[in-house]
Amino acid sequence: MTKIKAVIFDLDNTLIDFWKMKNVACEAALRAMIKKGLKAPFKSSHKKLMETYLRTGLDSDTAFSEFLKEQAGQVDTRMLAAGINAYLKTKSKFLKPYPNVASTLKKLKQRGLKLVIVTDAPRLKGHQRLDSIGVDSYFDHVVGFEDTGEHKPSKLPFRAAVQKLGLKPEEILMVGDSIHRDIAPAKKIGMTSALAKYGRIEKEKGKADFELNDIAEILKIV
Ligand SMILES: [Mg+2]
Repeated sequence: MTKIKAVIFDLDNTLIDFWKMKNVACEAALRAMIKKGLKAPFKSSHKKLMETYLRTGLDSDTAFSEFLKEQAGQVDTRMLAAGINAYLKTKSKFLKPYPNVASTLKKLKQRGLKLVIVTDAPRLKGHQRLDSIGVDSYFDHVVGFEDTGEHKPSKLPFRAAVQKLGLKPEEILMVGDSIHRDIAPAKKIGMTSALAKYGRIEKEKGKADFELNDIAEILKIV
């Protein structure tokens, strides 16, 4: 194997347990909106709110108003405000890194590796998440949606990272929780890949070069 000189990380569900945060924050938001008079059975409407996010995009700012429009036929601004506030309050409490994230990034930096994020989120939101878990300074670049205008599994965001790094793809290790969106495109352009098994939401076909049960296992690869 060629010597690895840089590691590209996916952000959500690779460094941050984003799905858990979203679930808990949506529960809190729903409770707050029901308190303001929203007539909705808790369990099925929670599912509906999560589906609205998947449809409008996980970083959508309109998911709540879309959801209320569908649920109640109109948007009650008082209800929307209570929901968004409850969401944001819970989000900041639950936006946490997986175990050993900060210590692993620190050790990778100490070994002289370049670190990059490739995310479908807008760059600003990427930096906000990295900052809130205290690891923003470890990263040389964040490639966000606006850098290429394409979502993964497009190869473009990965190529953009390669270009920023000025390295050959085979000198780069890609770490992500999705075979389809992270591992497959990285492999296609010649990177080495490691699947963040600990953050995986769905089981998919396909294989990475390495599988990680803990992010610290990267230190044995590079
Ligand atoms: Mg992910």
